[in-house]
Amino acid sequence: MAKAEERLMEWLRDAHAMEEQAEQMLSSTANRLKSYPDIRLKLVKHLEETRRQSITVRGCIERRGGTISIVKDLVARTTGVAQGLSGLFVGDEVVKAMLALHTFEQMEIASYRILIAAADSVGDHETRQACESILAEEQAMAAWLDEQLVPVTQEYLSREQASAA
Ligand code: MG
Ligand code: FE
Repeated sequence: MAKAEERLMEWLRDAHAMEEQAEQMLSSTANRLKSYPDIRLKLVKHLEETRRQSITVRGCIERRGGTISIVKDLVARTTGVAQGLSGLFVGDEVVKAMLALHTFEQMEIASYRILIAAADSVGDHETRQACESILAEEQAMAAWLDEQLVPVTQEYLSREQASAA
């Protein structure tokens, strides 16, 4: 059981770093999508949720006697998807952003499912409940992003066509 508890702590720290990365990605993407105000608004709303999620995960870590990894969080802020989104946007940035955000939410969903299973295996009911409430928010965001893929792509292509004409 000691091993499972160590793994749970490790995965909670990973989730905390992931939320720090999400915060970075959502705020930089929201700042760039000025010509898509509805998407921008939704990203800002999820950014606020993400900040609360980060605090919730940190609460689970501390309740279990751990501390957050500052080094891991710093690395998370500067690598991976956040890095991918920082400087590579070109004309089709809204489509690229939706692709990256959709992918990121799926990773978050999988992470919280794993954490729920790990919390169950060590009998940590509070961590389970915390992860379940975050999971519901990630699923709602993922469902919204999924619905946007087709209309955003169509909107982008028609704007591009209009500006070329
Ligand atoms: Mg999140
Ligand atoms: Fe999320």
